[in-house]
Amino acid sequence: MEQLVQQIAAYKDEIAAFTPAGAADLEQYRIKFLGTKGIVKALFGEMKQVPNDRKKEFGQILNEFKQLAEAKYEQFSELKDNASASDSHIDYTLPAEPHRLGTRHPISQVRNKIIRIFERLGFTIAEGPEIEDDWHNFTALNLPENHPARDMQDTFFISKNPDWLLRTQTSSAQVRVMEAGKLPIRIISPGRVYRNETISARAHCFFHQVEGLYIDENVSFADLKQTLYHFVKEMFGENTGIRFRPSYFPFTEPSAEMDIVCFICGGTGCNVCKQTGWVEILGCGMVHPKVLANCGIDPEKYTGFAFGMGIERITMLKYQIKDLRLFSENDVRFLEQFEGTI
Ligand SMILES: [Zn+2]
Repeated sequence: MEQLVQQIAAYKDEIAAFTPAGAADLEQYRIKFLGTKGIVKALFGEMKQVPNDRKKEFGQILNEFKQLAEAKYEQFSELKDNASASDSHIDYTLPAEPHRLGTRHPISQVRNKIIRIFERLGFTIAEGPEIEDDWHNFTALNLPENHPARDMQDTFFISKNPDWLLRTQTSSAQVRVMEAGKLPIRIISPGRVYRNETISARAHCFFHQVEGLYIDENVSFADLKQTLYHFVKEMFGENTGIRFRPSYFPFTEPSAEMDIVCFICGGTGCNVCKQTGWVEILGCGMVHPKVLANCGIDPEKYTGFAFGMGIERITMLKYQIKDLRLFSENDVRFLEQFEGTI
């Protein structure tokens, strides 16, 4: 005990005489007295060797010593703050580690581009729920129960009677806008749709669509063609060749499918266009009078056109992607190839 007290007195003298010359000095002092293996800690460890009746006295001496050692350190704390800058091993001249910036999904990029093109033509966006009732998904669109065209769009039913299902097309959002009855209507509805398909390189149980609808007095097939011509030129380039082929959809009459000249081979025939020189990009037509009537719009007064395209299909054509499944596999090596301006 006496020996320890003498030792502490010696340390006190040392502390009293100490004046750090710089940050390094102060740090050495801290390590010597206050560090985890420092003198203060070691002295507290000696406590167990002090006889019980003198523990209190020794404890007081120790605490006093500790406070003294700490006070000295604090006295020069300004040095300490500078020390963190000069003594640390950070080299501020090194280039920073870059943050990895993600990219937008190719489907989102193409979807946004499609939206921007139609927005410039005055179309606004209308979105609807992904879980729909039978009326909005089928019946209102001139697909009554037992209509054979329903087979092409077999889907996932959530419940029967009443029927609720995952929508097979974003036209259901258009029905809701038509029912709201504010004319004229000029909308596009982008969104995810679901179909009961076997998953393969060319088909998936979910995909994305953009559908458009324009209803007003005196809307004609010429308006439809001009609008889609403009879209193709903006999307695929000024000199893209276009053709319309007659087709059938229950909700439009007349109906057409639109092809563009294969931009891989320029129309001479290749694998992408299956040697035809053309690739199909969308379906369209004049809104069937029955659909207008179903939604409370007078077909004698109003006409309109509608079109719909799969975003996956456009993206695959645009970027030469051969397998639809890549879009939903979340493989970063695939996704980071589509760096766009965010
Ligand atoms: Zn081709």
